[in-house]
Amino acid sequence: MNPLFEKLRDAILQALPNNKKEFPLHEPLFEGNEWEYVKSCIDSGWVSSVGTYVERFEENLASIVGVRRAVAVVNGTSALHICLLLAGIRENDEVIVPTLTFIATANAVHYTRAIAHFVDVEERTLGLDPVKLNDYLKDIVIKKGQESYNKYTGRRLKAVIPMHTFGHPVDLEPLLEICDKYNLVLIEDAAESLGSYYKGKHTGSFGKISAISFNGNKILTTGGGGAILTNCDEIADMARHLTNQAKRNHRWEYIHDQIGYNYRMPNLNAALGCAQLEQLPNFLQRKRKLSLKYMEVFKDIDEVEFFKEPCFAQSNYWLNCILLRDQYIDLMDDLLNSFNKSGINVRPIWKLLHTLDIYKGNPKMETTTAEKLEKKVICIPSSAYN
Ligand SMILES: *Cc1c(COP(=O)(O)O)cnc(C)c1O
Repeated sequence: MNPLFEKLRDAILQALPNNKKEFPLHEPLFEGNEWEYVKSCIDSGWVSSVGTYVERFEENLASIVGVRRAVAVVNGTSALHICLLLAGIRENDEVIVPTLTFIATANAVHYTRAIAHFVDVEERTLGLDPVKLNDYLKDIVIKKGQESYNKYTGRRLKAVIPMHTFGHPVDLEPLLEICDKYNLVLIEDAAESLGSYYKGKHTGSFGKISAISFNGNKILTTGGGGAILTNCDEIADMARHLTNQAKRNHRWEYIHDQIGYNYRMPNLNAALGCAQLEQLPNFLQRKRKLSLKYMEVFKDIDEVEFFKEPCFAQSNYWLNCILLRDQYIDLMDDLLNSFNKSGINVRPIWKLLHTLDIYKGNPKMETTTAEKLEKKVICIPSSAYN
């Protein structure tokens, strides 16, 4: 058996509760009013597209994030899709996406017939590198009036989607400056970062429009679900319209004034979400406690580094990860194998999107940091156990 595996396993087990044998990477916990709210939905018959929990969920969510409006939808991917449509993305536009993110970020761009343009990330945040992006845009952008174009492809550059990896906020301030300079729409993929703050302000409140996910593995869950966040009433109203088949309000007539989508969150899911939102402070506190324990147990293990929130951020520590030091990266496969056999679920980070067959032809910058991180990041169990 690999001696590093034993060392890491012992450290991880020291940080986790000792009354369990199996540790999934992240499991949902239902310890509050979940059952009561879901049952009340079923008892009342309002389980689907109408009901009071959706509105309540949206209001509570908006107030936690500190935005004017939240629109609940069926999942985070559909939230991203609508964000892109409302950002004015058109066929053949280019949208800047980190190559190190979950596939949904790029797929949502593809749904709008636009093209994901992949860029590098930085080690400090695991997210989009604004310094590198700034240098890169200086080289590739040609301005026509207010708009930015990629002078190598001739296509319009219209938006940037930073993603807050594992809940750790990217450096948003310089990114906002870049968006300003090049007239790009900032869309935050805040799918993983509910409860994370950048310089004291909640992530998902910086973009003109942002997306969040409540999938079963996220910090809190609605079963499946997502939300669109914005400070603009007009955008929120349009998000509601588009996610409801673009059906005009009328008591009996079916008038659809554009192509819409069936993306509304059902009341049953929102009921679960209302109960889970009540638990958020609890979850955040437990997650911070776990991350501090991990920090402690990994302090003296020289072969790895525990990833800590960047200095400007307060992270939700949704998913904890360690980074193998360079001389140990060859052990990655071996470690993943041993861990997953031992009942401790660990995972590598995503494959870089520009290396997947489906995105091989897309434009990209050089991505040395992402390539390095792909070989060394290991995600470790992170559920908010009491
Ligand atoms: C989970 C996730 C999504 C998509 O959310 P779903 O609810 O699963 O559709 C999008 N982006 C990132 C970064 C995610 O982690």
